[in-house]
Amino acid sequence: MGKVDKGVNCSVKGCSKQAVRSLNSSDAKKAKLDIEQNKLNKVYVCEDHYKIVKKALKKDRQAEKWRRSVF
Ligand SMILES: [Zn+2]
Repeated sequence: MGKVDKGVNCSVKGCSKQAVRSLNSSDAKKAKLDIEQNKLNKVYVCEDHYKIVKKALKKDRQAEKWRRSVF
């Protein structure tokens, strides 16, 4: 994840806000975002969609922790 240059738009379909973060497409998939096809394995998200991704990844990590504590 990194910062994004100005003028880059969010890669989520139907969203034309300015991107603030770049993600791996796998992370975007975890958040179930509908991403525009991209040749690079990178996805750009605006602040709103970044929040959704962050939340989804956090949940993912918590589930992992839970699995480890059970087994
Ligand atoms: Zn967006």
